[in-house]
Amino acid sequence: MFSTTDTIVAIATPPGRGGIGIVRLSGHDALAIGRALIARDRPVTPRYATFTEIRTKAGATIDHGIVTYFPAPASYTGEDVVEISAHGSPVVLRGIVAAVMERGARLAEPGEFTLRAYLNGRMDLMQAEAVGDLIDAVTPLQARAAFDQLHGTLTRTIAEMDAALFDLVARLEASVDFPDEGYHFGGSSELAAAVDAIICRADALLSDGQRGRIVREGLHVAVVGAPNVGKSSLFNALAGASRAIVTDIPGTTRDLVTETIDLEGLRVTLVDTAGLRTAGDVVESEGIARARQAASVADLVLRVLDRSEPQREGDGESLGEASTRKTIVIANKADLPAAWFQPDAVEVSALTGLGLDVLRQRILERLGIESLVDRPEITNVRHIALVARARDALLRARGALLEDGGLPEEFVLADLQEARGALEDVTGRRTPEDVLAHIFERFCIGK
Ligand code: GDP
Repeated sequence: MFSTTDTIVAIATPPGRGGIGIVRLSGHDALAIGRALIARDRPVTPRYATFTEIRTKAGATIDHGIVTYFPAPASYTGEDVVEISAHGSPVVLRGIVAAVMERGARLAEPGEFTLRAYLNGRMDLMQAEAVGDLIDAVTPLQARAAFDQLHGTLTRTIAEMDAALFDLVARLEASVDFPDEGYHFGGSSELAAAVDAIICRADALLSDGQRGRIVREGLHVAVVGAPNVGKSSLFNALAGASRAIVTDIPGTTRDLVTETIDLEGLRVTLVDTAGLRTAGDVVESEGIARARQAASVADLVLRVLDRSEPQREGDGESLGEASTRKTIVIANKADLPAAWFQPDAVEVSALTGLGLDVLRQRILERLGIESLVDRPEITNVRHIALVARARDALLRARGALLEDGGLPEEFVLADLQEARGALEDVTGRRTPEDVLAHIFERFCIGK
């Protein structure tokens, strides 16, 4: 991993032009470099905005800007931090970064400011991950769930579980170490009840995990069906006013139109596939192959049929095994007279909007989501997997305790320690470097 003793610099605002852009420095020399940038030799008062000229080493003025100094340890990274706000031009901001680098700082890696905040104890690993989630959020629900995590809701729950475990471990260890002192922690059934209470907390967290994962990661929904049944129309109707949250997704082809929408708070990427029919030429068969591929990797498939036309042969199985659990059959053009009826199909009209609310509800049901009103407490698969591992170890501990005659306390202790280890991996108290590198590499530079 990267060095943490040098001073780092990056543009903290997004690429492109804006009214204001911010360059951020963190590290031992941040204040000295910040001072050197400033034209007049005046004191930089902590947490005060100083309006000043910003200069290169050779003395050329780059811009006027505001310099703010946040002394360690009460800064974002826990180190000395200097922020320079200037005009939001890439040329100006790159000029400032270069002027900082010629005075000895190095360019920050993606996520390095937040990594330092974590390493300096300003936040735990869950909170650092929440910073990334908050920046990446595209729906308000995603943002609120990330904000809660950043402000420590999950940190507190995990800390309470760990404290209860620590208490158990301490008592058990005392009775192992000092068997003759007359100290014993109740009977094994009392101990099992205490373990049970922690298992309950883990269960409550995990039952929220499926919904939480979907909130955080969003999902892919493929819209499939024969030409002219109304796929594009339905796609547009579902995307509605919130369409085009994300455009130009790399890999989008001529045949697959992708759009990310906010569906009741969920980040949903809709993939509109080429009409499925027997391939007429090579280009078309390529489109169909991609459509099949999109449908097979999608979390959900919306199979659109035209209710106003008699069903054609093959409509029902255009995807081979089309009516799997993850498929919702849609009878579109419900505003026109019906040519057929299928009880499990959701009747909608992409043209008038009829039935779209029912369809949205059906999509949530299929995903196993009853309501999105409550914010999920746990959303990250890494955390979910670790809590599940802790729960498994606790179940083993309880099993050992309830075994006839009870297994030796050392067995129970080993399981309880394993559960604690998993919880500590969540907060990052003992997370290995490669896991850290993986977590922080997805951040943007300047965060
Ligand atoms: P696609 O080829 O499956 O993407 O179908 P389109 O979305 O391009 O729609 C094909 C035709 O059906 C267009 O003329 C649409 O205006 C029409 N259409 C789509 N949905 C409806 C609907 O719900 N009701 C009616 N009456 N026409 C629709």
